[in-house]
Amino acid sequence: MPGATIGLLGGGQLGRMLAHAGNRLGYRFVTLDPTPDSPCGQTAAQIIASYDDRDAARELAERSDVITYEFENVDADVAAMLEAESYVPQGSKLLYTTQHRLREKRAVEAAGATVAPYAEIVSLNSLQDAVAHLGLPAVLKTATGGYDGKGQWVLREATDLELAWNEASQAGTELVLEQFIKFDKEISVIAARSPSGEVRTFVPAENIHVNNILHLSIVPARVPLGVLAEAERLAVSIAETLGAVGLIAVEMFLTADGQLFVNELAPRPHNSGHYTMEACRTSQFEQHIRAICNLPLGDPSLLTPVVMVNVLGEHMEPLLAWMSKKDDAAEQLGVTPKVHLYGKAEAKHKRKMGHVNVLAPNVDAALEWVSQSPIWRV
Ligand code: ATP
Ligand code: MG
Repeated sequence: MPGATIGLLGGGQLGRMLAHAGNRLGYRFVTLDPTPDSPCGQTAAQIIASYDDRDAARELAERSDVITYEFENVDADVAAMLEAESYVPQGSKLLYTTQHRLREKRAVEAAGATVAPYAEIVSLNSLQDAVAHLGLPAVLKTATGGYDGKGQWVLREATDLELAWNEASQAGTELVLEQFIKFDKEISVIAARSPSGEVRTFVPAENIHVNNILHLSIVPARVPLGVLAEAERLAVSIAETLGAVGLIAVEMFLTADGQLFVNELAPRPHNSGHYTMEACRTSQFEQHIRAICNLPLGDPSLLTPVVMVNVLGEHMEPLLAWMSKKDDAAEQLGVTPKVHLYGKAEAKHKRKMGHVNVLAPNVDAALEWVSQSPIWRV
């Protein structure tokens, strides 16, 4: 109950926004992160240590009533220790499943959803066999540790195989080959499940990536109503089959013939769910806190169409210049851009520094504002 302390493994922006939402409900936060003055550390008590530091993890357990995490690559030993010495409602099984693409795909299939045809790759020979079977183009991925498209090789022609194998086999993890899905749209659904089994989903977002980094989430996704409903149904089935507690984000591909393929899962708040902060009755962050604290889940209904735009390091200068002036275009279009910044000191190229939720009468008005804006020209 409020007054209790929530321990957070990880001190990035997801932790920061969880702490903001939890603070409002009266919870205290302590975060474990190697970086002093991390985005979350600015708003919570801090333990500064590496993620695999067992003593630091034990200290986090001692100082917290409940523990959660903001990234999925939590060290297995640390997760087990936290589970033994504190209360980790999400459990380590969900982490174990989502940390590995092959385990994740099997779990998604067990939930009755479809994934891109895939094969486990253990040698150049097995890669050649898999390509003969799945066809080209295809994507070779490391089974663990990938993010923002890192650890992936797109294979377009037969001559790409050997080079990709030579690079990928250096990664020191298992590999998986996926058929390349010629999707029409990428969408994502965020579901929340509480320990008592209550499940709620947020309205699906349509996601547009630039250089493998999320650029826009358009909500509601511009897909037929039947697809929205089917995407939410799949997310509920996955949350239930995996016995998830807290948030689980489900990324999907939609093909021209209306088929949905699940791409990957994330057992935490998701970048494509940041739109919920102003556009929903309950944000993904509040929902996660409610779920792990076993409070009744909040109403996730959408209040308004919205487009979320990520702010990367290279967008900071034009964003700050824009912020200091009155925005006539927004007024004319009837949109309200809400700025969120994560408190990161250095605006490095491609680094996620914040996001803007553009609340609008319809998504076209929000997209028009984004395209007129000076912020995302670079
Ligand atoms: P992120 O951290 O951004 O979610 P990631 O590194 O975990 O990314 P994926 O989500 O698996 O990797 O892939 C990144 C992007 O690459 C996808 O959003 C999609 O645009 C493209 N992609 C991945 N797999 C496939 C596929 N099988 N067919 C077509 N496109 C794909
Ligand atoms: Mg992804």
